[in-house]
Parts: sequence; structure tokens; C-alpha cells
Amino acid sequence: LCGGTGCDSTGSEKVRQALVREIERQGLADEVEIVVTGCNGFCAVGPVMVVQPEGIFYQKIQPEDAPELVEEHFLKGRPVKRLFYKEPASKDIIPRMDDIPFFASQMFRAMRNKGLIDPEVIDEYIARDGYFALAKALNEMTPDNIIEEMMASGLRGRGGAGFPAGMKWKFAKQAEGDKKFVLCNADEGDPGAFMDRSLLESDPHAILEGMTIAAKAINAHKGYIYCRSEYPLAIKRLGIAIAQAKDYGLLGEDILGSGFNFDIEVYQGAGAFVCGEETALMRSIEGKRGMPRPRPPFPAHKGLWEKPTILNNVETLVNVPQIILKGGEWYASVGTEKSKGTKVFALSGDVANIGLVEIPMGTTLRTLVYDIGGGVPNKRKFKAVQLGGPSGGCVPEEYLDTPIDYEEIVKVGAIMGSGGAIVMDNHTCMVDMARYFMDFIQDESCGKCTPCREGTKQMLEILEAICKGKGQSGDIERLETLAHVIRRTSLCGLGQTAPNPVLSTLRYFRDEYEAHIEEKR
Ligand code: SF4
Repeated sequence: LCGGTGCDSTGSEKVRQALVREIERQGLADEVEIVVTGCNGFCAVGPVMVVQPEGIFYQKIQPEDAPELVEEHFLKGRPVKRLFYKEPASKDIIPRMDDIPFFASQMFRAMRNKGLIDPEVIDEYIARDGYFALAKALNEMTPDNIIEEMMASGLRGRGGAGFPAGMKWKFAKQAEGDKKFVLCNADEGDPGAFMDRSLLESDPHAILEGMTIAAKAINAHKGYIYCRSEYPLAIKRLGIAIAQAKDYGLLGEDILGSGFNFDIEVYQGAGAFVCGEETALMRSIEGKRGMPRPRPPFPAHKGLWEKPTILNNVETLVNVPQIILKGGEWYASVGTEKSKGTKVFALSGDVANIGLVEIPMGTTLRTLVYDIGGGVPNKRKFKAVQLGGPSGGCVPEEYLDTPIDYEEIVKVGAIMGSGGAIVMDNHTCMVDMARYFMDFIQDESCGKCTPCREGTKQMLEILEAICKGKGQSGDIERLETLAHVIRRTSLCGLGQTAPNPVLSTLRYFRDEYEAHIEEKR
């Protein structure tokens, strides 16, 4: 039974209580166990339950369904059709999870344990090969071997920048330092993004294992998970996972008897978007105001407390154990030439199947929106999909066959980002959408450098005027000039990418800006 934040908000805890009561009342307590898992992914139809080992998928379960479910399915072996995702075409067809279009095109690597383990029970993670990669890394591999596997995997940073993870580790290993640090960036802040939260909630041990392997590779003994305080369930589960891993000798002193020491602490961020930027994040952990600093020096040489540091995001780290266990080549066997493996997306907006999705790199945006997402509901038409949140851009219908690949996405004016994908239908005003993201960025600008602090304010004022029907001729050109200056001269990624939503909407929907200005609407 999914206990992720999405299903929790639609009442999965009450469903759990009702199911447990019925299972006991009908005398099945020795035969049927309800396991509360992390996010199943299909948030749109929650609360969801998958009956294993058959994989039968039930949707929108209510507490009052419990007596029928337990009696019909568990006692009499007759699955309850009315709670299937869709009425099967034939009464003989029972929909397994993999048969449902939302899941059929997906490939689970980062999310391989989703819906299969109780994230608060370490034994369930271990039963799914958990910590086997750590044992291999500590007992059978040198730091160079670990880095070689990471390089062979082609895994690129899933936080958005796409820098090769193995290369980052190599630089940090080579850097001189009496202390080194491994950091996990769990400060997810893009509107519409919930990939990291779901992974933290559903598989916290995978993050600890990935960080500990990274620590072995660069010889670090201390790690921090920087997690936004708005994620209380994730923070709670990380705390439980850290305590359990220490109890099992998988974290702390002399891990698995190897003589290697590594400890992890959770540091709660206060919700500033800019603290997702690596140098600001490090300053925040140091107890200073979270503001970016110029690079170089890069964190691999001078990071946290001026010591060599690697910072990877949640999805990157979750992939590490499988790469070490199965090999870099296995990981690289999926994807495109330059973008290997899979990518997790939080699919939301005007799309039928809202949820968490993992697809092989190279899958087209059309597959993401239509085959997995089920297209645009309410008989409306697709207009665009915004990738990369406030740092990204929108992709219109004509480019929906673009494969998901770091470089290909940039060619159509967006960025991969961390995985937010917001679908917009033909009722969306693209100027208002650009104004929304600019408002967000302007609010989140740390104010350290003038182009970002003042430039985004000016862009926002122009966009607000246009949206109120008070736009003037020349506003579009002013927006473009400001955008290019802000892009070129801002200090950090937040400012450098802030104009992207405006530039991409101007590229594809310029007529909407012109109509607002000319028609004063
Ligand atoms: Fe701060 Fe913006 Fe400058 Fe980044 S670009 S340092 S967020 S003012």
C-alpha cells in the first residue's frame, strides 16, 4: 500500500487501518501482510495498492472497500474489478501493474525499490540487494576501481547540470586535503518537482549506500544530506535509516569490519531556493548565509570548510549502488550516446496521469506526455511542456519528438533540469506562465549580484504590466536585452538561467506577447 506523500494525502493511512482490521476479522493475519511503501509513482489515482506476488494494481481505494477487498481477493481469490485502473476489456483479464500504460514504457533503476519495500525496515532494503554494493566497494575494490566504474557508467549529475559524476569524484580524490566531504543535495526547490522527495521517502538506504561508496572513493569520513525542512517525512525516514545502518555496522566506525569510517548527518535547509546552488549550500552548512561564491575554485578542490568536497543530488546517488554491483557497462547499456541510463521526472500540470516517472534516456517527450502521461484531459489540446522549472524552458508540440538527452533538450530551448515536467494545455497563457516563474526567481534571488537582483525585478515589472494589459511597444525588446545581460553577467546558475522561461516563450509564443501589448488585454 503506497504511503508516499501523494497517497497519504488521499487517505492511505485510513485505508491501511481498515485493511488491517478486516484481515484480522476475516482470520487472514497469518497469510496477508500490508506493507506501507514509499511512493508508487502513480499519484493521480491514489491511494494505490499492488498485491504481490501477482502485481495486481488497485486504485482509488477507500476504507469502505476493505471488507470486499479482503473477502473477495484474499479469501476467495477473486480480484475486485471495480477497483482496477481501467475495466479490463475481457472479464478474464486482470491488470498487472506492468500492463498499465502509465508503467509499461518505464524502466526502474533509481526507483527500483518503489512500491516493493517498507523504507523504514533495513532488512527489506537488504533483501533487495541493499548494501551488497557497499560490501563489494569496501572489500573488493580500490578507490580507483570505484571511480572507473562510475566513469564507465556515463552517469551525469541528475541535479540539472549534467556533469559526469565519476569525473567529479576523480577530481576530489586527486585533491589534497586532510579532510574531505561527501554531500547530498536534497534541497529540491523547483515548482512542480518532487523527484528527490519521493526517492528520499521511498528508498533512504540507497542514498546512504551511494554516499558511503562515494566516501570510500575519495577517502572522506563525513557526509551531510542537505534536505529542505519542508520534507518532514523524508527527514524522519533518513533519521531512521541512519540509525539502522549504524546498528548494522553499515555506517559509522569500521564499516563491515573494513577499517573504513564514515558518518552521515542530515542538515535541514530553511527553504531558500538558492541553497540548491552548490557553493551556497556549503556556506549554509557552515552556518553562514547561503549565498553563492565565484568558481573556481571548484568544490572538488575547495568546498565545505575549504576542503575537497563532492556534492551529488539524490537521484545521482541512488544510482550508485547498482552501478557498483552490476558494473558501469550495464548502466551505460541504456540511453543515448552522451546521456546514459534513466531519468526520473515529476510529471504534473494539464496531464491525465500525474505522477513520478522513470524512463530510459532517449525516450521522446511525446512518449512521456502521451503514452505515460495519458495526454491532456478535458478534451483540451497540448500546448507545451515546461522542463527544468524556473531555470528551464517550454517545448511546444512541434518538438515533442525530441529525445530526452541533455544536449538535445538544450537545442529546443529548454534544459533537462532536475526532472520537473509541467504540461500546459491550450488554455494556458504563456506570458502569464513566464511571469509566474520570473516572480518565483525574483523572490528567490539572493541579492548578491546586481544583474540578477535588479534585472529580474525589472523583467518582472515588465511582465506584470503586459499581463495587466498595460504593456508598451518596445517591452519585448527590453525583455530580450535584460535577459541577455542577466544571462551573461550573473554570478551563479540561478541568475544565469533566470531568463530562460521568458526567452523560450518568446521563441515559440511571441505572438501571445504581441497580442497582449497590441490589444491591451
Ligand atoms: Fe545571488 Fe542571483 Fe547573483 Fe546567484 S545570480 S549570486 S542568486 S544575486
